[in-house]
Amino acid sequence: MPVSTSSARVATRSLSVQEALERILARVRPLEATSTALLDTLGATLAERVIADRDVPPFRNSAMDGYAVIGMDVANVPATLRVVGDIAAGSLPSRPIVRGEAMRIMTGAPMPDGADTVVRVEDTDNGAAAVVIRAATRPGTSVRAAGEDLRAGETILMPGTVLRAAEIGVLAALGRTSVLVTRRPRVAVLSTGDELVELDQPLRPGQIRDSNRYAIASAARAVGATPVPLGIVRDTADDLRRALRDAASRADVIVTTGGVSVGDHDHVKPVVDELGSMDFWSIAIRPGRPLAFGEIEGTLIFGLPGNPVSALLGFELFVRPAVLKMAGRQLLQRPRTAATLDDTLDTPPGLRFFARGIYDPAADTVRTTGPQGSGILRSMALANCFIDVPETVEHVERGSTVTIIRTDLPEDHA
Ligand code: AMP
Ligand code: MG
Repeated sequence: MPVSTSSARVATRSLSVQEALERILARVRPLEATSTALLDTLGATLAERVIADRDVPPFRNSAMDGYAVIGMDVANVPATLRVVGDIAAGSLPSRPIVRGEAMRIMTGAPMPDGADTVVRVEDTDNGAAAVVIRAATRPGTSVRAAGEDLRAGETILMPGTVLRAAEIGVLAALGRTSVLVTRRPRVAVLSTGDELVELDQPLRPGQIRDSNRYAIASAARAVGATPVPLGIVRDTADDLRRALRDAASRADVIVTTGGVSVGDHDHVKPVVDELGSMDFWSIAIRPGRPLAFGEIEGTLIFGLPGNPVSALLGFELFVRPAVLKMAGRQLLQRPRTAATLDDTLDTPPGLRFFARGIYDPAADTVRTTGPQGSGILRSMALANCFIDVPETVEHVERGSTVTIIRTDLPEDHA
């Protein structure tokens, strides 16, 4: 529990993960819609209704390389037809065909008037002046109707749709060079700590590399946000004040790591209180007990603990759903599933414990990644899930059923 005499907002009891998340999401609104170049919309949420303005495909065309014919001519085989033309994709038939005639046709080429069927080249002798049809082919075979994919006037995509490769392909087929999507949240990332150094600097005694900036910025990118990494902030009120003002002017969300405990150099709270408002919560969770949440000039700020595992877990549980909601998403939770524990677990009473796990989908079993300290970042690198153990549990036997969170699957999978 944080101890402070300076603020009435200091939590007087632990919040559950659920309570904290509800309080956070209550403060989050989706961002505005913005017209965005189609290739930049992957993972974004559509903010308009998309109606087909024309048929796709726009014309009747062949689904095969072969011969465009009249179905009645190929009901009985073998049949020999006169070849009266050749139609490549992108060109037009020179004329209609009549009974006894055929035209060579390539996949995607427009059907000649009169023809209603395509015989695959494999079912012919591939003749040039005349063609022998070897396989009886039913009328209508291998012909794609105009509008068989998308019909003019039809609603194709609804607002709220998460754009994947397939939706982007559909939009491209409709000629949409840009679409309205909910703007991608900009997430400023700040690492606090006098012990932190840049990756390319020599490590002096007592120093460590700023791994959180890279991990958190990447977690932000993975959720579809635009990360704005702003570097290392020293443990002084002045430095922090300057950095937070700058971050608030540039981003929709600020994520800091470190400095939210009750150490002598933990300045996040007083400085944010000065610039905006911030609540310090003690979450009934391990790892990652302290969490700060507030606002500076309309920009939300999350103060995550400095321990690398706590920071990433805090991002996953609290920042990620908030960013998703900002991005216009409806589904904010990753898929959960039951699995059999292939390990034993001792867990802290009264705290919800998130062990890093390796889930085997084939066997439906899960085991831990090994040592679970909050500084053991490798436990996250090895994991594909969290094992979510309730507050009330202290020990989990091998063979028990546990709940896991599939961190390798997106929210919209389940
Ligand atoms: P703090 O939350 O500031 O008390 O930091 C808790 C632990 O996390 C300390 O061992 C810090 O050295 C470590 N830590 C803080 N920030 C970072 C960071 N950006 N990268 C890696 N480790 C960090
Ligand atoms: Mg610190």
